[in-house]
Amino acid sequence: MTIALYPGTFDPIHNGHIDIATRAAGLFEHVIVGLYDRPAKRLLFSADERAQMARLALAHLPNVTVQLYSSLTVDFAGQIGASVVVRGLRAISDFEFEFQLALTNKKLAPGVETVGLMSSLEYLFLSSTILKEVALLNGPVSDLVPPHVEAALQQKAAT
Ligand code: ADP
Repeated sequence: MTIALYPGTFDPIHNGHIDIATRAAGLFEHVIVGLYDRPAKRLLFSADERAQMARLALAHLPNVTVQLYSSLTVDFAGQIGASVVVRGLRAISDFEFEFQLALTNKKLAPGVETVGLMSSLEYLFLSSTILKEVALLNGPVSDLVPPHVEAALQQKAAT
């Protein structure tokens, strides 16, 4: 059984992430969405909030589960028995960083393969950063996130 790890910050999960998780779920027996607990970037949502939103957004996918982690991604992959790391690739901007990350991970853990899935056209320019910027200024995001994430963003915008 091939277990794939789809790691990220997911602050919050959006339709671009859900699209990648859904497609990965069709390729691998089990997909674990790994929420990195302590990234260098400033976050809007707590780890528990991010995990809860991701779980609800992916609840319809029986072979996808969500777990928090705070170690090196390849260490977490080893811990959960994942031999594949899935990453989503948007336009040109992601490529250099993702290449660097994949090569670093290969050096750290030669047995773990990185698989990049190209973003679907409608989510090519969607990032959590852009999403938060629009939502916190009360812009419309209903086409970009599930309703429960939209509600959580609206709540943050109101505080
Ligand atoms: P973001 O870049 O949206 O803040 P993350 O850092 O949580 O998101 O990214 C987790 C993974 O999801 C990364 O592999 C990232 O490239 C991928 N990803 C993010 N947004 C999209 C998108 N719109 N389409 C495809 N993949 C995406």
